Amino acid sequence: MFLRKTILTLAFVTAAGVAAALAPPPESKDAKAKDAKDRKEWKSGIVWPEPKVIDPGSANVPPSDAVVLFDGADMHKWVGGDAWEVKDGYTVSRKAAVKTKDSFGDCQMHIEFAEPAEAKGTGQGRGNSGIFMMDRYEIQVLDSYDNRTYFDGQCGAIYKQTPPMVNACRKAGEWQAYDILWEAPRFNADGTVDRPAYATVLQNGVVVQNHTEVLGETSYYQPPKYNKHPARAPIQLQFHGNLVRFRNIWVREVTALVGKKPA
Ligand code: MG
Repeated sequence: MFLRKTILTLAFVTAAGVAAALAPPPESKDAKAKDAKDRKEWKSGIVWPEPKVIDPGSANVPPSDAVVLFDGADMHKWVGGDAWEVKDGYTVSRKAAVKTKDSFGDCQMHIEFAEPAEAKGTGQGRGNSGIFMMDRYEIQVLDSYDNRTYFDGQCGAIYKQTPPMVNACRKAGEWQAYDILWEAPRFNADGTVDRPAYATVLQNGVVVQNHTEVLGETSYYQPPKYNKHPARAPIQLQFHGNLVRFRNIWVREVTALVGKKPA
């Protein structure tokens, strides 16, 4: 035992000696100072416009540059909004879908929703609604808490295309939030797709879609397919027979800064 320990200790000492011999000599203070003096900061050379200052808001206050679509008072920003009940700061889906009077392209959207507190129905029949970006690409809203359905049709799915990465649903009746980053598709003049749409979705602060390619319009009956449409289009909230509540809805247009590299 003693012998084994001694051999091990010797091995460590030898290894440490070899490592010390291989290491570069410690830099002197003077050498370090000279190096720092000779080193120049790298700059991209791109001239950027200054990022606009905004107030980011807080949990219940939208950012200062947001387009507020529903602040709890009324649904006047929505076509068909009169049919939806408004009370206690929320609206309830009724009768038919609603869509925004404004149109949006690339955007960030925040929306809170609550499934009917009494969880009735199964599969697609429980708390079904949906956020249709550009009036045709559905991010599913469904009560998927303890309610199984086809995975690419559960809450947080790009409907019938991509399931959410995780099921981050809260219980029926509890308020939940979607934060959606939407990149609109780009079309060529001949109607072909230049660049597909992409969606990033956080449900209750958890990423469920991470820059997911959208394969085309979402339909119950048809495979996904793109049909050329304007660069901006309304956002639709689906009515699917269930009384889903919504509140605190806002959108920010997203525009990348463009920098210039001087010639
Ligand atoms: Mg739906």
